[in-house]
Amino acid sequence: METIKKKSAKKGMYENVMKQYDQAADIMNLHGGIRKILANTNNEIVVHFPVKLDDGTIEVFTGYRVQHNNALGPYKGGLRYHPTVDIDAARALAMWMTWKSAIAGLPYGGGKGGIQIDPSKYSEAELERITRRFTYALGDNIGPDLDIPAPDVNTNAKIMAWIADTYSSIKSPSVRQKNMHVVTGKPVYSGGLAGRDRATGFGVVVNIKNWAKTNNIDLKDKTFIVQGFGNVGYWASHFLIKEGAKLIAVQDASGTIVADNGIDPESLLDHTKNNSGNVAGFVDAAEFENGGFFGIKCDIVIPAALGNQITEENCETIQAQVIAEGANGPVNTEAERILLDKGIQIIPDILCNSGGVIGSYYEWLQNKRSENWKISMVLDMIEDKIIDAYDRVVETSQKHNVSWRVGAYVVALERLEQTYKERGVFP
Ligand code: GLU
Repeated sequence: METIKKKSAKKGMYENVMKQYDQAADIMNLHGGIRKILANTNNEIVVHFPVKLDDGTIEVFTGYRVQHNNALGPYKGGLRYHPTVDIDAARALAMWMTWKSAIAGLPYGGGKGGIQIDPSKYSEAELERITRRFTYALGDNIGPDLDIPAPDVNTNAKIMAWIADTYSSIKSPSVRQKNMHVVTGKPVYSGGLAGRDRATGFGVVVNIKNWAKTNNIDLKDKTFIVQGFGNVGYWASHFLIKEGAKLIAVQDASGTIVADNGIDPESLLDHTKNNSGNVAGFVDAAEFENGGFFGIKCDIVIPAALGNQITEENCETIQAQVIAEGANGPVNTEAERILLDKGIQIIPDILCNSGGVIGSYYEWLQNKRSENWKISMVLDMIEDKIIDAYDRVVETSQKHNVSWRVGAYVVALERLEQTYKERGVFP
């Protein structure tokens, strides 16, 4: 059965981000010195740490945290638990975070990391010990005003609570509470933000709505397919269906399911909860055996799983009008060129999935102010920021006559260039 391409997921991710970067830096004629600074990561932390497993044996794990740039504010970005996590993937993902935060106008830089594991192979108790020991190994390389991790692939609110608890427990009791916002994406009772869980998927749909508006398209009865039914895939489906669109196929690591009459994301979510998170075996849809998931005829494609899923090998089959990148780096540079030539629009990841980090920013502010915010207010604030960013990206792309991705990079790089020019380079 056809599933997500895991092998290629990290292949060339770093080259991909550098190609995108060079293209944008050329177009805007980015200052030479600043270009050198941003082409490099500031810090790369690799930790090896031991954990006792349930059967009493000891395993040594490898964890990463890459801090790309902090010119605009503390490093910010997720931690993922996945076999594809390595230094190159962390570098690429950290760079994307720098651009993403800058486009959204957030006072953050970019970081990313994680542990190279398949979390499904460990018990919950083991995952808790792995997480706590990883946090301990990172020590003061992270911190509420230095580097603030968040959920990413295979990490969630519960894992963030363990990180916050471990990090703050190794501080003096007098400053413990002040350290809880070392991570965002926490459970609501542990200082989390109402709405942070759905922020990324919600933001993807705000972008799709903006795209529809710009192109005079009515989303009612438009069909869409989603790759990945984790947090982003589910919430994007949930919100897009509210606009009258129809979910006709979903693919995850367990397989691909299709239903021309539409898949109800709420029933699918219930199914995954009782099926180790997998979509395969969902009764109200058929299994799709033919390969070519992205070639399924539909209007909107939402890749919301791993990187490098749409490449020159499979992009020719895509018939949709738009690709909304819920994942980070799902379309490689070669595929993007082919797709743009075919007239397919791509809402780039660094804009499309920025609802997550925008939500994180509000969680961090809520914590700094010791407040509790209402979900309706939070979603409105996220929507406002995305609309502003979307308009700026479209305007900049038109001005330079470039794709939305290059336009998005230019928006980010202009902000960073300006900051460096104002402050200079120490000493
Ligand atoms: N992991 C998410 C991303 O890639 C969220 C990062 C954050 O909230 O800091 O954007």
